[in-house]
Amino acid sequence: MAEKKKFQAIKGTRDLLPPETDLWNRVEQTAREVFGTFGFGEIRPPIFEPTELFARAVGGETDIVSKEMYSFEDHDFGELEKLRSVLLIRELELENPQSASLHKGQLTEFNAALEAGMKGRKIPVTPENERALDDLKMHAARIEILRRDYTGGEWQARERFNASVTGIRQALRVVEFGDVISLRPEATASVCRAYIEHGMHALPQPVKLWYTGPMFRRERPQKGRYRQFYQIGAEVLEMVPSFAAKDAATAGGAKSAPKDAAVDAEVIEMVMAFFARLGLEGVKLEINSIGDRECRPKYVELLRAELLKVKDKLGPDSQRRIETNPLRVLDSKLESEQAIIAGLPKIADHLCANCAAQYAEVKRQLGMRGVAYAENWRLVRGLDYYMRTTFEITAQGLGSQNAVCGGGRYDGLVELLGGQPTKGIGFAIGEDRLILSLQEAGKGGTALGRDVFVAWMGEKAQATAIAAAQKLRAAGFRVELPPVEQKFGKALGQADKLGARYALILGDDEIATGQWTVKTLADGSQAKMSEAEFLELLRKSL
Ligand code: AMP
Repeated sequence: MAEKKKFQAIKGTRDLLPPETDLWNRVEQTAREVFGTFGFGEIRPPIFEPTELFARAVGGETDIVSKEMYSFEDHDFGELEKLRSVLLIRELELENPQSASLHKGQLTEFNAALEAGMKGRKIPVTPENERALDDLKMHAARIEILRRDYTGGEWQARERFNASVTGIRQALRVVEFGDVISLRPEATASVCRAYIEHGMHALPQPVKLWYTGPMFRRERPQKGRYRQFYQIGAEVLEMVPSFAAKDAATAGGAKSAPKDAAVDAEVIEMVMAFFARLGLEGVKLEINSIGDRECRPKYVELLRAELLKVKDKLGPDSQRRIETNPLRVLDSKLESEQAIIAGLPKIADHLCANCAAQYAEVKRQLGMRGVAYAENWRLVRGLDYYMRTTFEITAQGLGSQNAVCGGGRYDGLVELLGGQPTKGIGFAIGEDRLILSLQEAGKGGTALGRDVFVAWMGEKAQATAIAAAQKLRAAGFRVELPPVEQKFGKALGQADKLGARYALILGDDEIATGQWTVKTLADGSQAKMSEAEFLELLRKSL
């Protein structure tokens, strides 16, 4: 007999169950409604995409891409992959002719299959694969000769033999049998890809899209941080007309500053309106400008120079980031680094004229819209593609993982992914955390109740009960219809447990007279009425 195995959801993932899923649906429906009033349409991109897309968009140096993505090769060459593993594992002995010829045979088989796959375009014909195939063929031929030379007394052949074995291993590792794809760690890259793929630049601009769905990051799970989590996000994309392309190349000149700022402010206003509609509590909006391609690199260099001066006083993470991404040092929560960070140069003092003008305008626009904010010069965001306006929103009841929304401007990302010069601004809300905060504030909602519990007895009554349930459900009421006859006492007990509002009692008497007995469970009162009267009562009371 098969061993009894207890399956569990994978670490960092979880089941969302009723009644909690009611809240999830309410949140998503509210997003649909609120975003709709701002002219956003819903987009549903696929959950996996080429890894390359995320590497390009999110940035190869970010934690997300370098270590948190779930990636796999997508191909039909399972057998060939196994053969590769065999070839990689085996120790090849120069003195052992049997092992060498077995190896040679399998390597030749591997090479032939690889070559055929590439010829048939089933295995990607990339420069890496082509070079690997050449190397493998060359080494396969050479190994046999070297072994013969060696047995023939040529002792130096050993060194060349070992070099070839290493060469084979290296080439084998390089081969990719199919496209490497990843579960999406975020959706902005997909939305931009879709904008390009479907020629959305030809639609009236800007194009406003929103999405909701699962994202995947291999992070260390904790409260409010999961490996499969959900985001609700929105993006505004606007192709830059060609006469202004030069302007856009420097990511929007002075002329576009007021317009961009108004778009930024409206997007932020929309998130805040969404949170307000949900009744989210303790909402705090922080904003910053992180400059553009012109002024940010200069600031980053200045920051790096200043950080180098205090390197010894920083922790290992920050020390490493001086080289890789000095801006991220500003993110540090390490107590010992706070005083040092407070003394570092602030980007607001180093923005170019365009960026400074736009930042000032964003603040003015938020003011006009009645959106309260705080400036935080240390807000930099983890992803590479952001520029200028960045923002983060926190809510209460979440402990250390209290960011519910992050967003910012990313002009240039669409172009980086092969599209035309395009401006972009967007945000992503962590839905899990949003839900958690609502629950902590007691806005979680209650168990799915029933409007009507149909307590029936007798064969004739069952037919009437079924017909009644059909009518009530068609009218949109939640109805529980027991599959088998129950004693009235038991039926009423179950109705109570399910949180039903009314019990519809159908027995011989009710069928004969056409007058139904309706019990209001909250106060135990009972009344007789016709079907039409009962429907009317439900409509009025629920
Ligand atoms: P990001 O895409 O990193 O800018 O994150 C946007 C928002 O998604 C954050 O503010 C969080 O609310 C949420 N988020 C990011 N990573 C996770 C995670 N691993 N688990 C739950 N929520 C997350």
